[in-house]
Amino acid sequence: VAVRDIHLKDNFTLDEWISSLSLGEAEQDQLRTVYKYCVSQGEEVLTSRLLVRGVEMVGILMMLNMDVATLKAAILYPFVETGLIPAARMEEDFGTKIAKLVEGVLEMEAIRSLQTLHRSETSPEQVDNVRRMLLAMVEDVRAVVIKLAERIACLREAKLADEETRVLMAQEITNIYAPLANRLGIGQLKWELEDLAFRYLHPETYKQIAKQLDEKRLDRERYIREFVQSLRDALKEAGVEAEVYGRPKHIYSIWRKMQKKHLEFNELFDVRAVRVVTKRLQDCYAALGIVHTHFHHIPREFDDYVANPKPNGYQSIHTVVVGNEGKAVEIQIRTDQMHQDAELGVAAHWRYKEGAQASKTTTFEDKIEWLRKLLAWQEDLSESGSLLEDLRSQVFEDR
Ligand code: GDP
Repeated sequence: VAVRDIHLKDNFTLDEWISSLSLGEAEQDQLRTVYKYCVSQGEEVLTSRLLVRGVEMVGILMMLNMDVATLKAAILYPFVETGLIPAARMEEDFGTKIAKLVEGVLEMEAIRSLQTLHRSETSPEQVDNVRRMLLAMVEDVRAVVIKLAERIACLREAKLADEETRVLMAQEITNIYAPLANRLGIGQLKWELEDLAFRYLHPETYKQIAKQLDEKRLDRERYIREFVQSLRDALKEAGVEAEVYGRPKHIYSIWRKMQKKHLEFNELFDVRAVRVVTKRLQDCYAALGIVHTHFHHIPREFDDYVANPKPNGYQSIHTVVVGNEGKAVEIQIRTDQMHQDAELGVAAHWRYKEGAQASKTTTFEDKIEWLRKLLAWQEDLSESGSLLEDLRSQVFEDR
């Protein structure tokens, strides 16, 4: 295979695809070099498959604004993981930083044993693997983000796999990776992990919801357009600076709401959602005042996660109002910064610090905060017992 022979979706060549990425030329060249390096490894079918997986991962990581080192490590990782390229070659061929990053992603393999720890006596080797994984995670959050991107890429690929494979993957996502993305506050990854897992675990329900959403799409879009316009007008008139737009609802979250509120299928598809994003914090509350004076709101649906953030740090004001034709509209109100944090979570934080010349989570306070999130994730994994808790002190003893 040659780089120019790899064809992606819509018949893009790999070369064209790299050129289309919003990266500087030097960065594009770096990616090209890594792809060329990988192309010469292994036999054609497997190599192309791993290259395509890398393309998916890079797409996801670009959406999260990750740096070029992360993108390079993401392309290399599937090759190292399958053993086509020995991990030992990373250091010599790509330098210490990339080598450590790829190694960090490899350590994430230990996540597997978190699922089985309760079933068997834990071997010292397993405990050691989990400990090394935690260290790698605390050391560099990018390793975790790459692993999550890899899981999404593999889940997308699994559309073509047999049912058993899909179900096993989906269970692991539901039990481990989606809660991890949630704890790290990476909304962008969490919803896709959840939707894909839900699709494999409950294919019929998934299809039904998707179909019904699709049938009413035009109606819903028209309704939202009008609602957004009237809200924009009201905010403008009151001199409140804010962006207003409709937001898509994800299938899994719709289904969860249906379960939680015991809603009928049809009531459920009235789901309409709008987001208001302001520059300043005080404008969130000003906007809320406008919303509630223009529309009747449903008090029990009101939540102020700005004043009381969720445990993962998520902040937004949630309210549900009754719009025209008596239809309910969910509204989220948040600042630009809260929006960034909600979509990117720890990835946003990492990026911000990188601008300030720090390439990893460097300060002790950061590590504590970061570890706190990982420990909260452990609470989600009730079955892993207190293993992570026990490892907490060890992680810090090593510092
Ligand atoms: P509640 O019913 O108002 O408490 O909120 P839900 O938990 O039902 O969430 C409603 C919507 O808020 C979700 O579909 C998301 O868009 C958003 N949301 C809630 N929690 C989080 C979070 O932790 N992270 C992100 N990114 N979005 C969240």
